[in-house]
Amino acid sequence: MIKLKSFSSFFVANWKLNGNFKFIDQFISNISLPGDKSKCIVICPTSIHLDYLSRKKTGFYLGAQNISQFKDGAFTGEISADSLQDLNVNFCIIGHSERRKIFYEKDEEIKFKAENLINNNIIPIICVGETLEEKEKGITNEILKKQLKNSVPSSSNSDNTLIAYEPIWAIGTGLTPTTKEIDNTHIFIREHDPKFNKFKILYGGSVKTKNVKEITFLLNVDCVLIGGTSLKLDEFANIIQD
Ligand code: PEP
Repeated sequence: MIKLKSFSSFFVANWKLNGNFKFIDQFISNISLPGDKSKCIVICPTSIHLDYLSRKKTGFYLGAQNISQFKDGAFTGEISADSLQDLNVNFCIIGHSERRKIFYEKDEEIKFKAENLINNNIIPIICVGETLEEKEKGITNEILKKQLKNSVPSSSNSDNTLIAYEPIWAIGTGLTPTTKEIDNTHIFIREHDPKFNKFKILYGGSVKTKNVKEITFLLNVDCVLIGGTSLKLDEFANIIQD
């Protein structure tokens, strides 16, 4: 397992169901990676493109976007944590709100996925976040507390797991919480349970060139998970270089 403590910041690119060989070739020829090796750049293509990207990669880490909650067996169409390890995958996003919402994933399932990943020396990036309705009701912290309690396994610690705070209403919408709200929520995650004191916590949701500095500058933000903007190669390159 790679050593999370050796990095000062994390930039995770979630390509979602986008990208193909041509896009990967363009990405590899155009991307200029930061000289600062304390920045950890993680690229998460579709599972089908992990192998192609891994054969070309230098200077960044590979991440998957999901895995099975099961280790092996009769689960047609699933992808195991064990098979990701064979491809030298170092990270895996789990519990993304699109998976929770569209594929009805539950916290307990996400917990099994995290356990499988840790057992295979892969860092789970466990996503949590509230809906707009929950934010407006003022129950964001309550929701996050429940998600963290039920989806983070007891084997998780600050050396083997990353948390991503992704307000669902900010994903792909161009909307973001204020910087004060982001900082306060990260403080809440870190302080509501001593277990999370030392965890690295990423922010995700409509991160762009124009707002990335003010977000990454926040004391309690250990950097960002980027969806749409990670597909815009020039913009992504600017974000990781700065
Ligand atoms: C995401 O999908 O995790 C995400 C943060 O998306 P976007 O940056 O497009 O809001």
